[in-house]
Amino acid sequence: MAEKLTAVKGMNDILPPDAARWEWFEAKVRALMARYAYANVRTPIVEPTALFVRGLGEVTDIVEKEMYSFVDSMNGDRLTLRPEATAGIVRAMVEHNALYNGPMRVWSAVSLFRHERPQKGRYRQFHQIDVEALGFAGPDVDAEQILMCRALLRDLGIPMEHVRLELNSLGQPGERLAHRAALIAHFEAHADVLDEDAKRRLHSNPLRILDTKNPALQAVVEAAPQLMGFLGEASLAHLSAVRAVLDAAGLAYRINPRLVRGMDYYNLTVFEWITDKLGSQGTVCGGGRYDGLFEQLGGKPTPAVGWGMGVERMLLLLEAVGVSPPERAPDVYAIVPSAELMPTAMATCETLRAEGVSVQMHAGSADGMGSMKSQFKKADGSGARFALIFGQAELAEGCVAVKALRGDKGDLAQAQVLQPLDAVPSWAQGLRSAS
Ligand code: ATP
Ligand code: MG
Repeated sequence: MAEKLTAVKGMNDILPPDAARWEWFEAKVRALMARYAYANVRTPIVEPTALFVRGLGEVTDIVEKEMYSFVDSMNGDRLTLRPEATAGIVRAMVEHNALYNGPMRVWSAVSLFRHERPQKGRYRQFHQIDVEALGFAGPDVDAEQILMCRALLRDLGIPMEHVRLELNSLGQPGERLAHRAALIAHFEAHADVLDEDAKRRLHSNPLRILDTKNPALQAVVEAAPQLMGFLGEASLAHLSAVRAVLDAAGLAYRINPRLVRGMDYYNLTVFEWITDKLGSQGTVCGGGRYDGLFEQLGGKPTPAVGWGMGVERMLLLLEAVGVSPPERAPDVYAIVPSAELMPTAMATCETLRAEGVSVQMHAGSADGMGSMKSQFKKADGSGARFALIFGQAELAEGCVAVKALRGDKGDLAQAQVLQPLDAVPSWAQGLRSAS
């Protein structure tokens, strides 16, 4: 036998029955987006490397060590598998002048790529639901997006006691500059405890040091001067306005003055939804405002806000709190005693499917269709509510036999009932309206 090939480390196959959980989750997301009037967008998985270097900031974990970048062997272009969604969406909006007619609310379901150490809740290809409100300056939209997240958690059946919302303001660039000077002074005074990353970032991007995952740095990070103390009136008013909406909507949160996000493009509102059910991979959703990014990517100044939700982590959280999607099974399993009856059986099942009934056909093998006993066993195992039996004698009379498999179907519960083939569509309609 030829040698087996395996998937790239940290990149997962999503197969049945697990994939059904993904579909269920995605259906909840789509319904949510419709309720909040967010429109779907799709952008390429591969972008010019420069987009992320310029968009996310050169001194960020992602750009420094997590990007899958390569040179296109055909033409020498420097390309990167997208490590996050926002930069590509903003690039697309600028490129197509898509906000010409006014602001836009959009969402996207994306695969992202980061070269990290794979572990539970952290992969090299992972997935996000991403929302962006483009061209909105007001704090109301920041709050709207936070509330959307709560609505999704509720729709999924995740009890709110398992998640918490943390909120902060990163202020404006000028305010951050004053804070930065204070930060550098603080970390310089504690230079002896800094690790390599922190030392390198001390003068290039000291704010990033606050985002460190090194436990040895926690004390000095805790003691660092907080940006909140450097915020002016307008920034504080923005934060108050976000809080006023959350308060009115009855959503509890914690102000975390140390919350910074992994990308440089954020300003004013930043937030994270965190669970204590997933250990150190506890952030399930993170986002914030990025009013400067359009300009940074060559567009007109355009205020914007967005979040990204880790799909794998959400699914792990659902599992941890014991929420599982309803089991899905076909409505009907079609039993076909012998291969020459298949054309009629298949044609009849097409009319069922046209009525919206889901049908799993029995599939034979090279040796034939298999015994009736084994077909009934498969029908039972499929979880279908009904078996349709396309027996020769019944078909000769223009009928098909229907058998209820789940025992809760009233008069059908006991025996097989004959259905005339031309009455199958109306039987199917009845089935649909009853379910
Ligand atoms: P972390 O601090 O856990 O590395 P991050 O700040 O890098 O997260 P973001 O870039 O803000 O994460 O992405 C938003 C969400 O995407 C995270 O909250 C998380 O749910 C998910 N996420 C990020 N990186 C990964 C990964 N490597 N594997 C799986 N999910 C991820
Ligand atoms: Mg990260």
